[in-house]
Amino acid sequence: MKPFELLANHGHERLAFHHDEATGLRAIIAIHSTVLGNALGGTRRWAYSEEAEAIHDVLRLSEGMTYKSAAADLPMGGAKSVILAKPGQAATEAEARAMGRFVDTFGGTYIAAEDVGVTPQFVDWMAGETQHVMGGDLVSHGGDPSPFTALGCFNAMKACLKHLGKKVDFAGLTVAVQGVGATGFRVAKLCREAGATVLATDTNAANLQRAVKELGVQATDANLLATKCDILSPCALGGTLDARTIANLKCSIVCGTANNQLAHPIDDGARIKKTGVLYGPDFIVNSGGLIRLAGLYIGLTEQQVDQKITHIEQTTTAVLKEASGLPSTYEAAVSYAKRRIEQGRTNRRTTAAAY
Ligand code: NAD
Repeated sequence: MKPFELLANHGHERLAFHHDEATGLRAIIAIHSTVLGNALGGTRRWAYSEEAEAIHDVLRLSEGMTYKSAAADLPMGGAKSVILAKPGQAATEAEARAMGRFVDTFGGTYIAAEDVGVTPQFVDWMAGETQHVMGGDLVSHGGDPSPFTALGCFNAMKACLKHLGKKVDFAGLTVAVQGVGATGFRVAKLCREAGATVLATDTNAANLQRAVKELGVQATDANLLATKCDILSPCALGGTLDARTIANLKCSIVCGTANNQLAHPIDDGARIKKTGVLYGPDFIVNSGGLIRLAGLYIGLTEQQVDQKITHIEQTTTAVLKEASGLPSTYEAAVSYAKRRIEQGRTNRRTTAAAY
């Protein structure tokens, strides 16, 4: 596809490719929107099977970040970066530093953080080269965002239960968690602590065993997406909900931390609504980590950050209500976010006109 068509398709502002000869780093940064402000979005490190897959991933993830920031009422835009790793290739400090230098060329328009395949250690290495990175333990700020993402997801689950007229009492509920990594483990923990039975799968046997041992979750070999449960919580990679998997769902609610859960957001969003399953829109449900890192970056206090993460329940409730007259809860969430972006654009124009 032609580069400018690629940008125009979903309203992206910039797509930048970087190759660092010394380390072999190959990375892409996509900035979807800076209408509401500079853009924070994680760096995903993944062995993509082809370059086109990486470009597709960075474009859709960065667009999602714009909606996530706007819906969370943050003065931030949306961006994301990806590193094209080789299969089995371990991350190194030299690679992270090269990525940090790439991020720094954006002068703060893009602020990096961790995502799948990137640890707080990697982020701290990046911070050796740029101030515009969040989520490290030592050098950069904020630490691992996943506990906050998980807490936000748990708050959104409460909103989903209330929306269906159910009591918010996890005792007696069965929650099925797909992927018990950084976020899924904590979602499972919160659900277990609240009294739920938790079923879990993970392609990483060690992660699954840890959840069984430490949380008392039930590991299952069954196809989790088609397992009878109250809440299905996709906490692994995106794209799991498509025509086939939606037709087999046996839950009342889908509410998880994974980004881009709907393979085809418009069609699959409408499809899931028709089945009667309530879908908690991913970028509202999983906004806790962004709220934490972006909030600290822009100077919010810990208390203000915590309040915003608690508020995810109200935001989810508002979006679910708006969805009653729309084809899907996903479309309601996008329109909720877009209203905030349009308001920001209008404010910009008004400010510019005043000078
Ligand atoms: P993670 O890598 O720590 O955990 C993902 C887990 O899913 C791993 O244990 C992995 O083995 C497992 N997994 C992968 N494929 C699977 C499959 N097909 N079935 C079952 N398990 C599978 O990642 P994470 O940080 O927990 O992120 C999970 C999802 O949440 C991602 O989509 C990420 O983009 C999204 N997310 C994360 C955060 C955050 O704060 N970390 C914030 C927002 C969104």
